[in-house]
Amino acid sequence: MADQAFVTLATHDNYARGAMVLGKSLRNHNTSKKLVALIGPQVSEPCQSVLRKIYDEVRPVDVLDSGDTAHLAMMKRPDLGVTLTKLHCWTLTHYSKCVFMDADTLVLSNIDELFDREELSAAPDPGWPDCFNSGVFVFCPSMETYGKLLQYCTEHGSFDGGDQGVLNGFFSNWATADISKHLPFIYNLSSIAIYTYLPAFKQFGSSAKVVHFLGKTKPWSYTFDITAKRITGSVPEASTHSTFLLDWWTLYSSAVVPMLHEHYGEQPFHSGCVESRCCDTVTFESVQDEGHSSHAQVSSQPELSSVERKEKWEQGQADYMGMDSFDNIKRKLDSFLK
Ligand code: UDP
Ligand code: MN
Repeated sequence: MADQAFVTLATHDNYARGAMVLGKSLRNHNTSKKLVALIGPQVSEPCQSVLRKIYDEVRPVDVLDSGDTAHLAMMKRPDLGVTLTKLHCWTLTHYSKCVFMDADTLVLSNIDELFDREELSAAPDPGWPDCFNSGVFVFCPSMETYGKLLQYCTEHGSFDGGDQGVLNGFFSNWATADISKHLPFIYNLSSIAIYTYLPAFKQFGSSAKVVHFLGKTKPWSYTFDITAKRITGSVPEASTHSTFLLDWWTLYSSAVVPMLHEHYGEQPFHSGCVESRCCDTVTFESVQDEGHSSHAQVSSQPELSSVERKEKWEQGQADYMGMDSFDNIKRKLDSFLK
């Protein structure tokens, strides 16, 4: 339907890259809906051009410049900058229903059925499941709701400092009122949940439809070795799952980077892709127990001593992606049991 759209937001070029990958992933899974990107004034011209190629509508939003109620709200609550920008999605009244998706989400299959749901439908947050996660939600644009949200924002602020706090405060009966507004978790699989409940992930992970790279380290925080098809850079957080991260980078490097090259032209830019030279990175293959080879595709930092490793464990920083991966732990247990 022409009056239904997926909507995302990018205030800067890095989130714009996320939005490009998200848009491509929606197109690859043949969505019949329109795609809308809200962008902040700091998104560069080349990134705007690429977004315009992928999205049906790229709409600049400058809360500071708007001179309207949002501007007033912003003057009262300057801390809520991005949040107020996100709430702008309710002003898209030329659509009757929309699905908002964070720019750090990736679509793994067609999710157009979300438009059968009503406002406000969202999936539980893995940290506090009586709150919904605001990375994916169904809403109905309305100036009236927008006005009320801004008012709520200025009066009550956000209990978590971001849009999720505001939206959960405003749609406060979500947890209890109507179960049909609870989206299954597979529509917003936070990468953080993978390791907090690994057996469930092993059982149900393959049915995930949307993965959400929630948290401070985003896919674009890493670099990607296009020759070896490996993620490189700083040690990946436990919260990020290598397969999904690799999916993101594969789509980004194959479909988005060529467009960025085209639009940056002679201007220098760093895509985040690198080409490996021999022995640039230490991979998990070199830190395996008992000669087993790893299937992890994420490079790590040099091997830790067992004391350092124990300390890391005690600090809750197990190397879930590498030495302490589920497969390795299982292998170790199996060898003890034998
Ligand atoms: N966002 C943005 N610029 C920012 C921060 C956030 O455009 O500086 C947008 C973007 O769409 C992002 C969403 O707001 O996906 C929510 O922020 P984020 O995903 O970083 O929060 P998390 O999901 O990690 O809690
Ligand atoms: Mn997010």
